[in-house]
Amino acid sequence: MKRIYNSETPKYLGKEVKIYGWVNTRRDHGGIVFLDLRDISGLVQAVLKPEIAGDVRPEWVVCLEGFVKERPERMRNLKIATGKIEIEAQNLEILSKAKTLPFAVDTDGYEISEEKRLRYRYLDLRRERMKRNLQARQKVIHFTREFLIKNGFIEVETPILTKSTPEGARDFLVPARLQAGKFYALPQSPQQYKQLLMIAGLEKYFQIARCLRDEDPRADRQAEHTQLDIEMSFVEQEDILDLVERLYTSLVKTIFPEKKITKIPFPRITYKTAMEKYKSEKPDLRRDRKNSDELAFAFIVDFPLFTPQTKEDFFYGSGTAKFAPSHHMFTAPKKEDIPLLNSDPLKVKSYQHDFVLNGREIGGGSIRIHDSKIQNKIFDLIGFTEKQKKQFTHFLKAFEYGVPPHGGIAPGIDRFLAVVLNEPNIREVMAFPKTGDNCDLMMDSPSEVTEEQLKELHLKISKKKK
Ligand code: ASP
Repeated sequence: MKRIYNSETPKYLGKEVKIYGWVNTRRDHGGIVFLDLRDISGLVQAVLKPEIAGDVRPEWVVCLEGFVKERPERMRNLKIATGKIEIEAQNLEILSKAKTLPFAVDTDGYEISEEKRLRYRYLDLRRERMKRNLQARQKVIHFTREFLIKNGFIEVETPILTKSTPEGARDFLVPARLQAGKFYALPQSPQQYKQLLMIAGLEKYFQIARCLRDEDPRADRQAEHTQLDIEMSFVEQEDILDLVERLYTSLVKTIFPEKKITKIPFPRITYKTAMEKYKSEKPDLRRDRKNSDELAFAFIVDFPLFTPQTKEDFFYGSGTAKFAPSHHMFTAPKKEDIPLLNSDPLKVKSYQHDFVLNGREIGGGSIRIHDSKIQNKIFDLIGFTEKQKKQFTHFLKAFEYGVPPHGGIAPGIDRFLAVVLNEPNIREVMAFPKTGDNCDLMMDSPSEVTEEQLKELHLKISKKKK
């Protein structure tokens, strides 16, 4: 007999079926045993004679064969999709036994300590809420792909082993075994690659890109996060915003029809107005903050190109220059403000655009510099030494061979999902997140490596954490 999913069982009324899954619950009722069985599609109830049920317990993996029967009216459970039927078991095969789980998986799980949940993530993901979140994530990514491909975009994968790009965070470094003393960096984002793809003439690029940043512990940050990375040639800022607005309105309508978008077109608010009117560069524009189904999108534009540089901006220049980029160093200054680069850089406005949802920044981007002279000027203003500039030789060189005007954006997939699914944290929408201090408790990573491995990589550990 072919296996069917639990959700399909009602279609087989009166017939014999074979199902596989986990025992969700067991109830013994004088001479009869009820099992709720769980598979990816949901729950179904089975009725067993005690001799067939044996000592089967919750979370054991079983194969059950039996007849689909209608339940008597008063026994129906309308809370589950298969609640009008049950399976009268003929046979139960135990495929794998389970110890008692460290926590319940038939609740939403918020009551359990996060440490425990992450340590046993494979069990935590058994809960209905987590499965629904991962399914919603896949729907969002699938919809996005289809939408962009239909709109003429090409999806390109860019390297994970790459070179340090100072984009406002610390790089994760990977020692190069074959080049003693040299390091790759993991990408903070594919920023340089996507701009180079514009120089290559691809015109409309996207990627569901993993971004890796070695940040200090901060709420709602992860060492790895996923962005919808977009870049386009021959566009103005409004073309990028319009694309994102069309994508997110149709995505919400299709995948989350119960949600209401506060305002379409999404408001475009200048940085100055946002700060004056809402005292925030990511204002919450919901009409009713208690309504969990409201989505208030907005774009913030006209940011200053620079902020005064602080010690935290060590990755730019010497850490002692006066200016740091508000977004990143490839963001173009507004045309009319270019003369101010010499006289009053802090007054220069840029073509940066932030994408905001319910008071959270869920993405950012800009029109880029496509003139190597201006790019060089920005490097000077943020205090790049000649040596640091040299790290960008490849980039500036590419600018000598015909660069289309271009720009892009990168909405965060995790953050969007957390807001739309009303989850308190992006960890709830990721399969295998890390803790606030970047540890994977399940894999026990990061971990020590052997002396031989270190030697091969030409590395010596000078200080170990106790
Ligand atoms: N690379 C930028 C970021 O990760 C996004 C962009 O400018 O497109 O914030």
